Formats: sequence, C-alpha cells, structure tokens
Amino acid sequence: MVNRKFEHLVRAYGAAFRRHSMEWLLPERCHICHGPSQTTQALCKECHLALYNQRLTVLSSCARCALPLTAEATSSVFCAWCIRQRPLFERCIAANVYASHSARLVNSLKHSMQLPAARIIADEMARSIKTFYGADPSRQSSASIPISHVDLVVPVPLHQRRLRQRGFNQAIEIGKPLCRQLSLPLALNACQRLRDAHSQQGLSRRQRARNLRGAFTATCEVTGKHVALLDDVVTTTSTANAAAQSLLDAGAISCEVWCFARTPAPD
Ligand SMILES: [Zn+2]
Ligand SMILES: [Zn+2]
Repeated sequence: MVNRKFEHLVRAYGAAFRRHSMEWLLPERCHICHGPSQTTQALCKECHLALYNQRLTVLSSCARCALPLTAEATSSVFCAWCIRQRPLFERCIAANVYASHSARLVNSLKHSMQLPAARIIADEMARSIKTFYGADPSRQSSASIPISHVDLVVPVPLHQRRLRQRGFNQAIEIGKPLCRQLSLPLALNACQRLRDAHSQQGLSRRQRARNLRGAFTATCEVTGKHVALLDDVVTTTSTANAAAQSLLDAGAISCEVWCFARTPAPD
C-alpha cells in the first residue's frame, strides 16, 4: 500500500518535472505569428519590426482623436471629424495604427487568451504615453505637463455578460502592467457598463453613438480627478465618447483616452 502510494507520487512529480523542464527549454513563441521568439518582448524579429513600423506619432495623427492623417490632411493638426464636432475627451494617445500585426496581437489577447500579449501591448502604450508626457528623457515631449497630471486610469468596462463569456477584460489585463510602469492607480470599478450594445459593426458613426448612449455609468471615485480611459482599440471614438460622458457626469475634471491601436479612417 505504502509502496503504491510512493510510486504514484514519483509518477506525479516526474510528469510535473518533465512538463516544467520542457517549458523552460522551449523558447517562448512569438505572440503574433507563433514562430520562435527572438526578442525580449516574446516576438520574432519580423513581427517586432512590423509593429515598430505601425507606430503612430503625434505628427502623423489627429491631435485630438489620434486618427491617422493622410499626407494631404496634415495641413491641420485635427481630423475633419474633430473639426466638425469636438470629442468629449481631451486627447487620445494611441501607440499603433490598427493594422495587420497590431490587430493580430490584440486578437491573440482577446480571442486566444494569451495574457502575456497584454504585457507587450502595455510596453508599446507606455512608450507612447511617456513620449507624450516627456517622461522619457531620450525623446522629445509634445506636452509641457507631467504625467502626474493624470490621477486615475480607468479601463473601459465590459458588460457582465461579455465578461462571463470571455473570462477577462482585456483593458484591465493591459492596465495592470501599464499602471505598474507609469506608477499610476488603476481604478477597476470606477466605471460600469449598463447595457451590452449590439454589435457596432456595420453601423454608421451616428448609429454607433446612438447605440451607446447611456451605456456607461461612473462612480464618485472619479469626482475631481483627471482620468485616463484605457482601451485596447479605438475605432470611431463612439465608445470612448460614451464612457467619457459617464466620467464627466460623475464629476471628473477631464478625461483623455489611452489605447494601443487606432483604426484608420475608411477609404
Ligand atoms: Zn512573429
Ligand atoms: Zn480627430
């Protein structure tokens, strides 16, 4: 009896040891193409370079909503949408254009539950936020305000039903390593989603805004605070505007948006 128990323990520990030693021996896979990783960010060299080439700069995007601007449109610092109607948020700081590689990285986080991808996304976002606020001494800053101007980071919430389906909120998973890097508090419950808007795909800008009206509510945690709203992707700014409205209604002094990827305007 004792011998059988001992044998069982040896087998169990042996299997665990083999599993862990294999994980240790095998290099981490690239979180975009799943090929062998060749960089400290768990990306292969090609994907790392492609992501680098998809970075947005303040000069190549709208100063308010970060919409990538075409060469013809760069005579103005704002895009046509922001000139027509100013968004409720002060600015959007976006790290990358939503394109092939950035989209696959977001998908590997959202749909394949590869949570380490959140760390890569957070690194990219921290770089662009630090550049904007001049917290990175090696880069030229575009703002004269310090990052400590931001009091609170609020992840865009998922509706409870969506959260149960997915098992996690990608904005929170990105927010954890990002806020550690920026030494800012992450407010997990300051904003809630009351309604799970129907799919926004195929809807016009106006229809999206109507679809999301009143979809969010914020708590007094944001009252008197400068808030940064965090999301993985900003498409038409309808979600960002609706969430910003709830923060301002709850007494936030200002709201800005931080996202990893910004969708370009349709052709
Ligand atoms: Zn790759
Ligand atoms: Zn704009």
